[in-house]
Amino acid sequence: MPTIPIFAQAPLKPDLGAPCNGCGVCCLLAPCPLGVLLSGRRTGACDALRWQDDGALYRCGAMTAPGAVLRARLPAALHFAVPALAWLLGRLAGRWVAAGDGCDCDAQLEDAPVDIGQP
Ligand code: SF4
Ligand code: SF4
Repeated sequence: MPTIPIFAQAPLKPDLGAPCNGCGVCCLLAPCPLGVLLSGRRTGACDALRWQDDGALYRCGAMTAPGAVLRARLPAALHFAVPALAWLLGRLAGRWVAAGDGCDCDAQLEDAPVDIGQP
């Protein structure tokens, strides 16, 4: 059973099929197919996931910050192509990750103790 660190301010995960509320659970558990490309691995939290203080939720960085996501993923020699690729990614990512289709994550969550250190 994996343990995922998650912002305490994040919304609670909704039921399967309910509108996505940006809880971030699915992307923190494992990357989606696009996230596998952007993270370079199939396990763990997706590198493209972004926390937004404004709104206190998670967003897919492939949609909200495609340039930063690509710059972090691509070698420096390919950074010249980031503006064009970011334009493309920003337009296609929503379809690739099925944004707006409702929550497709059936993970069951349990709270775990959090050690935030000494005050
Ligand atoms: S799809 Fe579901 S688990 Fe993933 S961020 Fe949206 S609400 Fe959370
Ligand atoms: S929806 Fe975006 S942030 Fe989530 S796993 Fe896929 S690429 Fe990563």
